[in-house]
Amino acid sequence: MPIIYLGCWQKSRNACLNFLAPANVLRIYFEKAEKHMEEVIIIGSGCAGMGAAIYCARAGMSPLVLEGSQPGGLLTTTSDVENFPGFPEAVNGFDLVWRMREQAQKFGARIETAIIEKSDLSAPEKKLYSNDGREFCASKVIIATGSSPRMTGVPGEAELYGGKGVSACATCDGAFYRDKDVVVIGGGDTACEEAVFLTRFCKSVKIIHRRNEFRASKIMAERALSNPKIEAVWDSVAEEILKGDDGFCRGVKVKNVKTQAVSEIPCKGVFIAIGHVPNTAAFKGELEMDSEGYIKHLPDSLVKTNIENVYVAGDCSDKVFRQAITASAMGCMAGILASS
Ligand SMILES: Cc1cc2nc3c(=O)[nH]c(=O)nc-3n(C[C@H](O)[C@H](O)[C@H](O)COP(=O)(O)OP(=O)(O)OC[C@H]3O[C@@H](n4cnc5c(N)ncnc54)[C@H](O)[C@@H]3O)c2cc1C
Repeated sequence: MPIIYLGCWQKSRNACLNFLAPANVLRIYFEKAEKHMEEVIIIGSGCAGMGAAIYCARAGMSPLVLEGSQPGGLLTTTSDVENFPGFPEAVNGFDLVWRMREQAQKFGARIETAIIEKSDLSAPEKKLYSNDGREFCASKVIIATGSSPRMTGVPGEAELYGGKGVSACATCDGAFYRDKDVVVIGGGDTACEEAVFLTRFCKSVKIIHRRNEFRASKIMAERALSNPKIEAVWDSVAEEILKGDDGFCRGVKVKNVKTQAVSEIPCKGVFIAIGHVPNTAAFKGELEMDSEGYIKHLPDSLVKTNIENVYVAGDCSDKVFRQAITASAMGCMAGILASS
């Protein structure tokens, strides 16, 4: 009879579970008691994390890299990288960082997916807690979690981002817009700096800003406004980034917030310059940070934090250069110090 059969099965299953339960409890207990202490954990798998991993791995530390939600980091979101030394013919951003990863793994780096949301760094045994309930322990920690560019979220932006006309980095992508008309969105120091930088290559640069004066420092604002290639589009916000028939950016739809008039600015490139957010929430209260959340380093070293054996590398600390080579170099420094 099927009902009796089901009943028997449930009984034996319950008996099994009862039998296994104490064993499970013991297993968890022993696992906790014997929690593996890593020599070094690197948080982040971008250029900084991989730079650190290569140096720690070659020093025989078998580093554990926790790669977060963006394996390979920000560079994977761009196509051609023309300024990383050693690649005169340019290199694809994804390929570049993936080669760093293979290089680190070749020397013994281990890579695991984990998003760290909390940390306890003051004791000699550093603890890291991931968002799925895991706990990691290490004697040394290298934080290389990068920063995320703030985006406007308007239609077209995400679709055209990363090689199709929308960028968040003029230093990186400006040279691709030689003799083209471009737009910068923003009004702070970064927007003005990026606009001035873009005039080296571009035919014209329009800065779209929601107010009728820049938030930037006076000197930066003056530098931008006195440049004959730069024009400010005041009191305006971008409503949409427009795609051409070729699949690339053809312009921006803007709305004047005072008159509500909508118009189109034709352009080939749009640079979003409304700031970056450092990915450092997991370390708040543990490490010294500046008012924007960038992790501070000690005066005598670019990568030592205020806690011994906790190092920082790349864009989560550096808000000035924000380049693949500077992030990799900071990773190198952190790796050397952690392994010495
Ligand atoms: C559109 C664009 C184009 C660019 N082009 C160039 C270029 O041509 N040349 C150049 O030199 N630079 C370029 N850059 C800049 C370059 O990408 C960055 O400077 C570089 O990636 C910074 O490296 P990073 O390792 O510090 O951070 P990221 O590359 O941002 O890596 C951060 C890593 O940390 C991980 N992470 C974050 N939070 C957590 C967490 N809580 N737990 C675990 N892991 C976490 C992420 O998953 C990621 O793996 C460009 C940037 C952009 C946005």
